[in-house]
Amino acid sequence: MRNTSTLLAAVFLSSAGAVSAAELNIYTTREPGLIQPLLDSFTKETGTKVNTVFLKDGLAERVATEGASSPADVLMMVDAGNLVDLVDKGVTQPIDSKVLTEAVPSELRDANGNWFGLSMRARVVYAPKDMDLATLNYEDLADPKWKGKVCIRSGQHPYNTALIADYLAHHGADATEKWLTGLKDNLARKPAGGDRDGAKDILGGICDLAIANSYYVGLMRSGKGGDEQTAWGNAIKVILPTFKDGGTQVNVSGAAIAKHAPNKAEAVKLLEYLVSDEAQKIYAEANYEYPVKAGIAADPIIASFGELKIDNKSLAEIVSHRKQASELIDKVGFDN
Ligand code: FE
Repeated sequence: MRNTSTLLAAVFLSSAGAVSAAELNIYTTREPGLIQPLLDSFTKETGTKVNTVFLKDGLAERVATEGASSPADVLMMVDAGNLVDLVDKGVTQPIDSKVLTEAVPSELRDANGNWFGLSMRARVVYAPKDMDLATLNYEDLADPKWKGKVCIRSGQHPYNTALIADYLAHHGADATEKWLTGLKDNLARKPAGGDRDGAKDILGGICDLAIANSYYVGLMRSGKGGDEQTAWGNAIKVILPTFKDGGTQVNVSGAAIAKHAPNKAEAVKLLEYLVSDEAQKIYAEANYEYPVKAGIAADPIIASFGELKIDNKSLAEIVSHRKQASELIDKVGFDN
């Protein structure tokens, strides 16, 4: 009898513990392997249990459909455009956190506190390892001296619409159309494939310059993508291009707090944790991204590209030119 009552007490205690323990629900489009180490570390530090729903797409629509009964607390994804879409769909709420505004540069977050960039990637240029070229402006990519030498994926891919939208923010529609036409004239092949194909085609002698994201170099050179990709990664060097009147175009992975978050206090705690020195370091190591917080070192492969100077146009402004960028890409027949 004594054994039974002890057992009952234990069951009662453990279920009471589970009920009272803090929980947090995340909806995310990010690969589980990339964010799980961060969430595990948060749980270890705070005791808050994190439930994660991984969604390939339709995240904003799902939260909108669930409405006030949505269990979602934190929405995590890649690309500032997707974060702005959450705000436009009315599924976020502004939060006021000094920890976040101090850690995240103002260019990389919503002015009203609806979303925050948590890690960064840069749109860079790959070039043959031995090429005598140290610096480049994005403007130079349309210079006829690169005729038949430039590789890029589809102009309509969000990575490229964001770059072209940033060009629009700097130079306006007429100059951007001219630049895009010049860049198209410089292409070595039809825009296709992914960013890593740029490195592959440099190794293959098809192109001299490839426009691509920074983190792929870490994925290739580290061997995580296999021997073939290691060879592509080692065939190239990375140039951090800048706008003549600005810096290097970056995009973010980031997060927002859901409008009807049932666990708002824990949600704010998670976002604040994600900009801690410890979490920013995990971010940098997990996917070769740049930490958004100043003073946290990037992975050595990424740091070897040189100092990143973030462009002076805010992501919110860049995103506002997205549609115009997409229309220009079609207008000049960039992908044809
Ligand atoms: Fe990517």
